[in-house]
Amino acid sequence: MTGATGLIRLSPPPTFLEASTSIALIALAAALALVFAVRWHRLRRSIRELAAGIASSGDGAMVPPLRRALRNDPELVHLNRAIADTLAEAALARDSERRQRAFQEALLNEIKDAIFILDRNREIHFANAAAKALFPSDQPYRSRAFFEVCRDHRVYDTLELAEDLGSKVSDQITMRVPDGRPDRLREVSILVEAEPLDFGRENGGGGSWILLKDITAQLETEQIRQDFVANASHELRTPLSIISGYLETMDEADTDLNEPVFRRAVATMRKHGQRIVRIVDDMLSISKLESAADLLAREPFDLKETVAETIEQLMPLIEEKSARVTVKAADDRDWTFFGDRFYWDQIFFNLIENALKQNPEPGLKITVRLKEKDGRYLIAVSDDGIGIPAADLPLVFKRFYRVQKHHARDKVKGTGLGLSIVKRAVEAHHGRIEVESRPGLKTVFTISVPVAGPRPSESAAFAAGNESKDADPA
Ligand code: ADP
Repeated sequence: MTGATGLIRLSPPPTFLEASTSIALIALAAALALVFAVRWHRLRRSIRELAAGIASSGDGAMVPPLRRALRNDPELVHLNRAIADTLAEAALARDSERRQRAFQEALLNEIKDAIFILDRNREIHFANAAAKALFPSDQPYRSRAFFEVCRDHRVYDTLELAEDLGSKVSDQITMRVPDGRPDRLREVSILVEAEPLDFGRENGGGGSWILLKDITAQLETEQIRQDFVANASHELRTPLSIISGYLETMDEADTDLNEPVFRRAVATMRKHGQRIVRIVDDMLSISKLESAADLLAREPFDLKETVAETIEQLMPLIEEKSARVTVKAADDRDWTFFGDRFYWDQIFFNLIENALKQNPEPGLKITVRLKEKDGRYLIAVSDDGIGIPAADLPLVFKRFYRVQKHHARDKVKGTGLGLSIVKRAVEAHHGRIEVESRPGLKTVFTISVPVAGPRPSESAAFAAGNESKDADPA
């Protein structure tokens, strides 16, 4: 018998069902993997977009919305919202900070004094508009070394001292600065103040501020005030000491007040008393015009009539000097003006009286001319007397100024305040006054004033010192 080969079946052969189950499982796994891969890819993309959104939100961009597929993911939606809220808040804070800084800078730009804010390395952090006007440059100011912009060692010294002392330091210097016209400089007095800044020092911040203030006008005003007090005291002292000298003599026990010498003394005292009254009146007129020009009356009156009345008032002096005063109006009509008649009486009185006073020679001719041009009255008071030397012309409107030469100053009565009052009064009516003189031939004072007179609001501005910008200490 031959051996037979037998096969033992250890496992049953796979059925079709079994095979397809495996394939399905593999396919499912693959599908799941694919779903997760896609989801993961989207998640990564969304996170990338979220990150990009955060990165660019500094420029005000918003966090992009989540892709639709991820909107169902509560974690992601929550994260997205939290980030969006945080960014929105940060943007708001940044925005309000930016607005606040712009507001502060606008405020500092409104200040007429030059202001620099420097960092701890003395580089410019901020320069206001006045600082830029004082030190013009076509380079940007920010982050430049301060002393590249302001090359004045005195300012540097002030800053250094303030830093050393840790407190505010001031100095007063004179400087040549641009005067608004190309390549033109003018000398001004400047107050320099520097002070270290405290805030942020512990975080490496700190720095200093520097202020440069033009105090030229302030110093001039102070000088004018001092001169005025000195001149006024001087002018009042002479008549007062004459009067008190006489009074002392008269006070002696055995004085007979009926003696002719004392009668003469009384006459002299009366004359000096009148002079004091006139000086004080003139000073009060100036002070009133300076401090309360807005209280000027605004009443209609006729300029030609006012001149005629002044001439009438001065008739005794006109006759004494054998002078002739003529009024020449450009045409025959009313010369109505709206203003303060009280001051116009003073204006005409002082101008005509001056011409009469200054000219001792008989036969003087004085002419008052009136005309209207371009909405302004032009009023000229001229005489053919000794005139005013050219060197004195710019000074005659100053307080207490009296021409010294060949005017026999002591013989001619006056306070030196007459023309100051005239100038102030004309300016209070928004006018101008000029003088021209050719000694021995013709001296003309010309007033130009708006026909409508000063408007009330403008008068108030004048009182606040806006009108008399010429800094002429008249
Ligand atoms: P005063 O009280 O001395 O007249 P003013 O201010 O009125 O003072 O005048 C200043 C100076 O101007 C006078 O002292 C005089 O020297 C000069 N002045 C003014 N008007 C005339 C004029 N018409 N002719 C010559 N000099 C004049």
